[in-house]
Amino acid sequence: MKETFDAIHDILIVGAGLAGMRAAVAAEAGLDVAVISKVHPVRSHSVAAQGGINAALGAGDSWEKHAHDTTKGGLWLGDQDAIEVMCREAPDDIRELERMGVIFSRDAQGRIAQRPFGGAGFPRTCYAADRTGHALLHAMYEQLLKRQVRVYEEWYVTALIVEDGVCRGVVAWDILNGGLRVIGASAVILATGGCSRIYLTSTNAVINTGDGMSMAYRAGAPLMDMEFIQFHPTTLKDTGILITEGARGEGGYLLNTLGERFMQRYAPEQMELATRSTVSLAIGTEIAEGRGVDGCILLDLRHLGRERIAERLPQIRQLAVDFAGVDPIESPIPVRPGAHYAMGGIKTNVWGETSVPGLYAAGECACVSIHGANRLGGNSLLETIVFGRRAGLRASEYARSAPPPSGDAGFLQREQARIAGLLKNDGPERPWQVRDELGQVLALHLGLVRRQDRMAEALSLVRALKVRAERVHVEDKSHTFNTDLISALELGSLVELAETVVAGALAREESRGAHYRSDFPKRDDARWLMHQLCHHTPDGPRLDHAPVTITRFPPA
Ligand SMILES: Cc1cc2nc3c(=O)[nH]c(=O)nc-3n(C[C@H](O)[C@H](O)[C@H](O)COP(=O)(O)OP(=O)(O)OC[C@H]3O[C@@H](n4cnc5c(N)ncnc54)[C@H](O)[C@@H]3O)c2cc1C
Repeated sequence: MKETFDAIHDILIVGAGLAGMRAAVAAEAGLDVAVISKVHPVRSHSVAAQGGINAALGAGDSWEKHAHDTTKGGLWLGDQDAIEVMCREAPDDIRELERMGVIFSRDAQGRIAQRPFGGAGFPRTCYAADRTGHALLHAMYEQLLKRQVRVYEEWYVTALIVEDGVCRGVVAWDILNGGLRVIGASAVILATGGCSRIYLTSTNAVINTGDGMSMAYRAGAPLMDMEFIQFHPTTLKDTGILITEGARGEGGYLLNTLGERFMQRYAPEQMELATRSTVSLAIGTEIAEGRGVDGCILLDLRHLGRERIAERLPQIRQLAVDFAGVDPIESPIPVRPGAHYAMGGIKTNVWGETSVPGLYAAGECACVSIHGANRLGGNSLLETIVFGRRAGLRASEYARSAPPPSGDAGFLQREQARIAGLLKNDGPERPWQVRDELGQVLALHLGLVRRQDRMAEALSLVRALKVRAERVHVEDKSHTFNTDLISALELGSLVELAETVVAGALAREESRGAHYRSDFPKRDDARWLMHQLCHHTPDGPRLDHAPVTITRFPPA
């Protein structure tokens, strides 16, 4: 059965965050490029990035040092060929961003200022106060407008079209007007961001439901290292809103209820700027052992003074005032670790190519892999820029020679049936109920400390939720701006990915970076210095392994 396409492009990019827009801007002139996004581009989660973006710009720093810090911070699980590419290309990418109009903060000599960040041996994080993502995303959007790239705004992609093993386009729901559309493309780039909304509280935007990872997985592209979910050490009490590592980079301390700078006991040299997994575990231990303050610890910025806080951390101050009723100029901020970032994702090479011809991925939805078992702050924005650009270039080459898509083999009918099914369900459960329960299961059983029995229980609970997710009741039956339907579709992505996270974590019998197991507290290079792949099957993920690429830094 052949379909007619509603539109055909040379390159279709799903996602208008930094990775997606950077890919579009990098695509070769003369190609017909389109971007499709479930929200307006500047509402993508990249806009919320606070602390900064890494590049070895400073005299005395080097891309090799950046690569070493990244490798070590990721506990040697990152592929060093990919890390080298990222760190080597970072300085030129930053200079190009500056030429595009990004308003980086400056040092006294007028150069791009750089602040220290966790796990970095050098102050190499470039920033725009504590609104770096905002500055980057808006500049990138201007570039998109300048190139007159077609943007499908508020369209929700439900599935990839894969014919004879080759990706040929997508099926998407037009959120504003309702109805499914089929868009063909010679090359599709997924840039759909992270999935940390599988947790109940998270620093992520509510739209970060991992749709692209789930689509690629269903279409046959394996996911890699899904068990590694980063907990950011400092998220605001109750809401889980991020308080940037830049606050500690500027000199903020962490205190327990005794007023101790407890990092002295966990990382006496790096103190508050140890890697995120180390700081998060330290905070978790302080709270568990009764030295917390109301389920939190305190982030003290008072000694930085009013002027510095206002200049370097204005957004953090406002967030603390608005959401915790605390002005950091006068009082410490109550914070605790929270789900933040997916180190895993769709397996790609350094050009964004997945195992499915015609399908590319870049940004947080991809696993190149740079971050290994623990991402260094400031490396994720960098990843979106370097690998977004590379995916745009490689997809351009491919699109020039790929035959145009000919038609989809029944994908539209399949998606129509899926959506009709959801709209027909009239069971007792609403999408948000299953979503909340899922978030609680992960928070409870897959938090900072993991262990076999809790994870096994989580796996069976997630599997039961997966069945319930298919039967949720979509109350709104209309076609126009049906957010109820979208949340039911997003729930499908969440439960599917949660299953891969739990299955991967259960199988990995060691502790490494963000994956800390009380029953296997040691890193085990002999058995586990390898990636874990998840392949989709109707019965759940099939796990498999892949070697880690080691070039210049042997595991230590
Ligand atoms: C609060 C916060 C602060 C952070 N601060 C930093 C920092 O200082 N430094 C750093 O390096 N990293 C930081 N990170 C991480 C970093 O910001 C993200 O990893 C990165 O911005 C992700 O960019 P992206 O382009 O991959 O995805 P996103 O910016 O998340 O964009 C995803 C896009 O995909 C689209 N999309 C998703 N699903 C669909 C669908 N089904 N159909 C259509 N469109 C879809 C969305 O509409 C969106 O446009 C931070 C993250 C958070 C949450």
